[in-house]
Amino acid sequence: MPDLFRKYLFGIAALVFPEICRGCGEWPGAGRTGLCRRCESEMPRTWFEKVPGNPVEQMFWGRAKIEFATSLFFYRKGEMLQQIIHQLKYKRDKNAGVYLGRLAGRVLLKEALAEKIDCIVPVPLHPKKQRIRGYNQSQIIARGIGEITKHPVNSESVIRTVHSASQTRRGRYERWQNVEGIFKVLHPHLFQNKHVLILDDVITTGATIEALCAAFSHVSGVRISVLTIGIAAG
Ligand SMILES: [Zn+2]
Repeated sequence: MPDLFRKYLFGIAALVFPEICRGCGEWPGAGRTGLCRRCESEMPRTWFEKVPGNPVEQMFWGRAKIEFATSLFFYRKGEMLQQIIHQLKYKRDKNAGVYLGRLAGRVLLKEALAEKIDCIVPVPLHPKKQRIRGYNQSQIIARGIGEITKHPVNSESVIRTVHSASQTRRGRYERWQNVEGIFKVLHPHLFQNKHVLILDDVITTGATIEALCAAFSHVSGVRISVLTIGIAAG
């Protein structure tokens, strides 16, 4: 079957039959959603959560103070994870997002990271973008994590005031100035002395999360950790 046509069919099938495997289109097995066992095992895990000083943590060195940071999978164009996140972002396949969140939640529990954090904050979309899309994909993933770890998801207390944080071509100093003011923490008292897990779908340069950390830097006693489902690789 041509690739595009196959993707199109899966897109429709995933909405009609939420229990279909997003990788191969087969029934994923009793009690499973998202991916079948085989497709899940083929996803390119980073295992970064087992590596202190891993590449995601390194992204923030000299940019933001982070307790721990990790991404679950390598994210490459044309691969299964890109298809799943595309479904989640543009095809209203929220079940796929909850599935990814549950996976992340299980990793946090297994690695004893869940017990370190107090709440989950999905990276906010600009309100205009969220209105167009109808929902924030990271909020859906965060919901899946909270379901497993029992942590509250706070998506109301931080807002995005500027559309884009793509300053990868700027110098470091200029970029630092630029990240100030992209996000605003509306209810700082909620985060005082708390350990916040920032959650995003895919991390590329870390600029967006760096900007979110800058907004949290005004909250006293707050600690920040980072989890993303994918890390852009090649
Ligand atoms: Zn499958």
